Amino acid sequence: MQQLLKGKNILVMGVANKWSIAWGIAQKLHEAGAHLAFTYQGEKSEENIQRLISDTMPEAPIIHCDVQKDEDIQTAFQQIGEKFGVLHGVIHSIAHARKEELEGQYYDTSREGYLMAQEISAYSLVAVTKYAKPLMTEGGSIVTLTYLGGERVIKNYNVMGVAKAALEASVKYLAVDLGKEHIRVNAISAGPIKTLAAKGIKNFSNMLKEFEEKSPMGRLISTEEVGNTALFLCSDMSSGITGENLHVDCGYHVVG
Ligand code: NDP
Repeated sequence: MQQLLKGKNILVMGVANKWSIAWGIAQKLHEAGAHLAFTYQGEKSEENIQRLISDTMPEAPIIHCDVQKDEDIQTAFQQIGEKFGVLHGVIHSIAHARKEELEGQYYDTSREGYLMAQEISAYSLVAVTKYAKPLMTEGGSIVTLTYLGGERVIKNYNVMGVAKAALEASVKYLAVDLGKEHIRVNAISAGPIKTLAAKGIKNFSNMLKEFEEKSPMGRLISTEEVGNTALFLCSDMSSGITGENLHVDCGYHVVG
């Protein structure tokens, strides 16, 4: 593959295991020549990342960062600054809602569950951007992951749909804040993919089935395809694109 990201330092947040969308993205960025760092929340994720990168990028820093804690985010970016000096990109592939909020009626969402979903899945992009910005002195690209449930009602997606709507709006506000600093902010709206997070959504297998049947391309999306799009958004090939929500969903959003 062409070394589109040679000499670029990129932070990948949200690899939990080999099925994670962030891992699909990390592999593509690595193949394109980027130097990567990773953040994780759970201990299991740290072990998994260590195993995943042991052959291809054993020297990549793996840093703990719970995005519910400002001090974690601050310390993580301090460490990244010490390691890399300049940062050229951030992949924000983080979301969480309680399993019981991802089924039934949206009006049953608890206050606590609503705030937690918003904090981890939407506000975290704002906080991460704040600490990433001082390191992105040469400009760069921030990419987050969203889902069609932020634009329209998708059964059982409930509180996460509302968090994704806030995330997508944040992408636009952040794009305006940072445009003059040559930092671009975009979202990838991926089709449904079987991951740990997706398993929390009630009847997720039905979502996959319906997607496969209805999507114009008649198939599911792969993490490699999302990875290729993230590579594009991190590279100069997308130098004129910011504030965008790019659907990587085999065209489902035009029909579903
Ligand atoms: P994963 O479960 O693999 O990834 C979710 C990640 O979020 C995990 O690494 C998890 O870390 C991290 N996370 C959760 N809470 C926190 C926290 N407090 N601090 C830091 N990290 C946290 O699932 P996906 O790859 O599916 O999800 C990645 C992104 O893609 C999410 O934003 C998701 O909404 C989005 N997306 C997913 C789709 C799908 O169908 N799978 C479709 C469209 C978008 P840990 O496990 O260590 O807690």
